[in-house]
Amino acid sequence: MSLSIKNLHISVDNKKIVHGVTLEIKPGEIHALMGPNGSGKSTLANALMGHPKYAITAGQILLDGDDITGAKVSEKAKKGLFLSPQYPPEIAGVTVSNFLRTAAGTITGIKQNPIKFHQALIETLKSLNMYPAFASRYLNVGFSGGEKKRLEILQLLTLQPRYAILDETDSGLDVDALKVVADGINRFHNTERGIVFITHYNRILQYVLPTHVHVMRVGKIIESGGPELAKRIEEKGYQGE
Ligand code: ADP
Ligand code: MG
Repeated sequence: MSLSIKNLHISVDNKKIVHGVTLEIKPGEIHALMGPNGSGKSTLANALMGHPKYAITAGQILLDGDDITGAKVSEKAKKGLFLSPQYPPEIAGVTVSNFLRTAAGTITGIKQNPIKFHQALIETLKSLNMYPAFASRYLNVGFSGGEKKRLEILQLLTLQPRYAILDETDSGLDVDALKVVADGINRFHNTERGIVFITHYNRILQYVLPTHVHVMRVGKIIESGGPELAKRIEEKGYQGE
């Protein structure tokens, strides 16, 4: 079992951005994908989930052995793939509660009882230091940076995917919000779930301990290692040898 990315090449508007990334994430592992701005981290994340703007021109994505390279986003989600995008969209008219209940129903194939679902959601909200009325707000409309990121964690805890790609879920957070987000990720994580955590800071890695660290640069993974690699980047920057 794994999320396996094999020699993936990705273009945006006919411009080649990712040049052959290979990565395997097994259940229980937390991979930190680091690298300076513009190195192609979000391009990789968006293409994995199937954003139409990001064209996979070569390579393969396998989820527990199934080739999902060309699969629809909804198929990928049903198989347990999840993306928290760096810039989550605002969707007026769709409440947090309705969105999550519809998504949970579609992914599991089981219609969710609105009352029970709402009650469980309120409990999860409380555990993320969020007020209950948050469930009735429109998706990301007027949300602060911290609220947007907490919504991503709320989705993670509610939808319980098997492989989660989190793109800069730590950026723009003050230390208290960072701890809430990190705590949510740690609660989500268990031996059956794999996480790819994209970040360009080391900060969150004090709270979420990665099993693997990769450095991406100009569309390629140039180095992989354990947590010590993140430490070295913190001390010496991406140039450090
Ligand atoms: P990172 O997430 O590592 O900061 P990105 O994947 O966002 O990097 O960007 C990598 C490169 O791809 C950049 O040069 C960026 O300008 C380009 N790029 C990414 N997304 C788009 C897009 N939607 N349209 C045009 N260029 C893009
Ligand atoms: Mg990015």
